[in-house]
Order: sequence, then C-alpha cells, then structure tokens
Amino acid sequence: MAEKWTPDSWRSKPIVQVPDYPDKEAVADVESRLASYPPLVFAGEARKLKAQLADVAEGRGFLLQGGDCAESFAEHHADHIRDFFRAFLQMAVALTYGAQQPVVKVGRIAGQFAKPRSSNIEKKDGIELPSYRGDIINGIEFNEESRIPDPERQVKAYRQSAATLNLLRAFAQGGFANLDHVHQWMLGFVKDSPQAHRYQEMADRISDALSFMRACGIDPDNTPQLRSTEFFTSHEALLLGYEEALTRIDSTTGECYATSGHMLWIGDRTRQLDHAHVEFFRGIKNPIGLKCGPSLDPEELIKLIDVLNPENEAGRLTLITRFGHDKVFEHLPAMVRAVEREGKKVVWSCDPMHGNTITANGYKTRPFERILREVEAFFAVHRAEGTHAGGVHVEMTGRNVTECTGGARALSAEQLGDRYHTHCDPRLNADQALELAFTIAENLRK
Ligand code: PEP
Ligand code: MN
Repeated sequence: MAEKWTPDSWRSKPIVQVPDYPDKEAVADVESRLASYPPLVFAGEARKLKAQLADVAEGRGFLLQGGDCAESFAEHHADHIRDFFRAFLQMAVALTYGAQQPVVKVGRIAGQFAKPRSSNIEKKDGIELPSYRGDIINGIEFNEESRIPDPERQVKAYRQSAATLNLLRAFAQGGFANLDHVHQWMLGFVKDSPQAHRYQEMADRISDALSFMRACGIDPDNTPQLRSTEFFTSHEALLLGYEEALTRIDSTTGECYATSGHMLWIGDRTRQLDHAHVEFFRGIKNPIGLKCGPSLDPEELIKLIDVLNPENEAGRLTLITRFGHDKVFEHLPAMVRAVEREGKKVVWSCDPMHGNTITANGYKTRPFERILREVEAFFAVHRAEGTHAGGVHVEMTGRNVTECTGGARALSAEQLGDRYHTHCDPRLNADQALELAFTIAENLRK
C-alpha cells in the first residue's frame, strides 16, 4: 500500500536542486500568500489536455511542446510572447498536415522559471558565485547579491505567469490564431528560406487544402476550429514550495490539481524514486511529463511509471526522451520494449535539445544537425518497434536569436555572439524551429 499523499508530503523526502533560502520565515510568508491567490489554470482544462494526450498515447495525435528554456523577468514583453506564439502555431500547422492528425499544443511558458543546474557554483574571471537558478529563485547578474535566493521572486513569477497566460488566451481565442493568418506567415517563411524548394511542395498542398475548403463554403473567419486554437501551458515543477502553494482541490472531483500550469514535468535530475519531486507528482492529477535521459535504466523507468501512473491512465504520463543524437539507438529501444512488455500507456515525446549541448566559441550551443539527427533516430526507433512517435519537446523562441548553430542559414560558431539572449540553454530561432517542424512533418508522412 502506498503511503498517504498530501500536497506537502514531499517535505519529508530527500530533495535536490532547490535553493537554500536564507530567510525561512519569508519563504513561509510568500507561500501562504500564494496559497490565497487565484489559480492560474483550472482543473477542467488540465483534464481536457489529459484527454487529448490520451488520444496521442493511443496513436491518434501528435504533441508539440516548446518554448524558452527559462522565461525571464527582463523579457516579459507582449512582442516576445506574440513572436513565440506565431512561430509555434506555424510549427503546429506543418505538423498537423504532416501527421494528418490533431496536434496538441503545449507551451513551455507562463511558469517556466526554475532551473536545475549541473553545478552549484558558477566561475567567471576567477570569481566563484552560487549558480543562477532561474528568475523565480535568484538573479542572472553575476554578483553576490543577485545570486541570493529571494522568495519574493515567486510572487513576481506568479504575476508574470498570469499576465502571459492572459495574453496567450486572447491570442488563441481572439482571431490571431486564425488558420489563414498562420498559413500566410508560413508562406512568408518558405519564400525567404534558403531551403525554400524543400518546403514549397508542402506549403502548396496546404494552400490547396485551404482553397478547397473555402470553395466548399468553409470560411476560417466563421469556423471556430479554424478561427481559434486550443493552447495549454507547461513547465518543470522544480520549486515544490511554489507548486504546493498553487495546488488546489478541484470542487467537481475533490481531487488535487497543480494550478500553476496545465502540464508539469519532472526534470532528468530530480526523478529519483524516493525523492520529493516524484512524491509531489504522484498525487496531483494533472497530465505530467518525465524527462528520460541516458542514465535512466528501463527497469527503473517501469518502477517510476508504477508510482506516477498506477491506474495506467492514458494521457497521464508523457515520457520525454533526451539522449543525445548518437545515443538514441543505444537507449530508446530498450525503454520502448520495457514499456510495451508491461503494457504501460504513455505518450512518447522526443526532446532533441538537452542531450546535444556543446560549447563552441565560448558559448553553450546546440548544432542544428544533431537536433535533427536525434529526431530522425527517435522516429526510426518507433517505426522499428511499431510504437507511436507521439511528440516533440523543444526549446525555441520566435525571435531571430543566434544560439544554436547550423540550419538553413548555416549559423556559424562565430555568429553566436550576435544575438545570444537566452537566460539558460540555447534555443532554436523561429526559422530553425520551423525547419525542424517541416522535417518532422516529412517523417510523419513516411
Ligand atoms: C529543461 O527542460 O530545461 C531541462 C533542464 O531538461 P532536463 O531535465 O531534461 O535536463
Ligand atoms: Mn533547458
């Protein structure tokens, strides 16, 4: 029998990757304030997302999850959110066409603030300081004061998440996401791309499909499914005090939901079976993700699935695999076979970012070719195993940043410094994100 779960039962377990706040009373005060604030999302919305992910788990859909590695307080502009959403929607259209299936749209946004770090210490010019852990915890500026964890930042993150979500809801429902617009943006991308010939055919086919629908009397402006879109939010639920404060009992079911975002995931560094993060996640009813890196043994994965999804509910659990472009064939088949052998219902999603980080010219970067290779390998393994390659999880922005090398414009290591803006890991820029979507769309049609 499992021990009793409560929203705070994680507090008696070992925990890693959380800050040691100097002022514990201030933390308790912030948490009790957050607990009195309105939820950011509703349980019914999380259930809706879970139902859509259940279809993906059964092979009837594709999950697109993406956004910044870390949202920042400094970049909280409407333009930034709009540009992200515009790139993301174009990816979704390409994928919908490629998959000929619904695409479930989940942003890494409106709450993606807390970061696990590989080291507690950052070193620059001979000076050592505590690592930056995301704007919800401390500041990115390299000085002693800014690196002190400040609980008031949680309130700021909550308010920023609310404002971001408000704008996203307006964009999704208010006409901005109209399929006609998204398609026009995509045609602009194709026209300007050095690889235009590769994308033109698919873009033309989408144009034809839209013209045909219009000839049949289906006008996107008057058709809710084409005029608006459904969009969900997600983040790594690392800072459990914040998450607990926003966990609420749903009045219709009496069950606990995290209301900081629709979907939450457990990072690759905090998925220990007997630790706090797994404990917190097992009790909330949201759809959840689990990052699966090369150090995760398939039998350990089965144990984690048993704890996190004991009812084997489809849509509850998304396995986000992130091995590195050259390690997929070594690790993924064994995982897929273990999951299939046990009859576990999961969504398989590919994070081609986190296993492919290197340093070039002094910058943390990711070569675009390796990202593509990891995605291609992911599809190849699922084709060979007869399982559904269900989704992709990317770090991206709508801006023309220079953080990942390669792509159609052959961004070089020397150009990384031009517009390197990320607060943590390197993101795909809008063009690279769309190129990736077109490549995945091609794979989905195979
Ligand atoms: C992330 O998604 O930003 C992250 C830290 O991933 P992982 O836990 O897979 O390393
Ligand atoms: Mn990251």
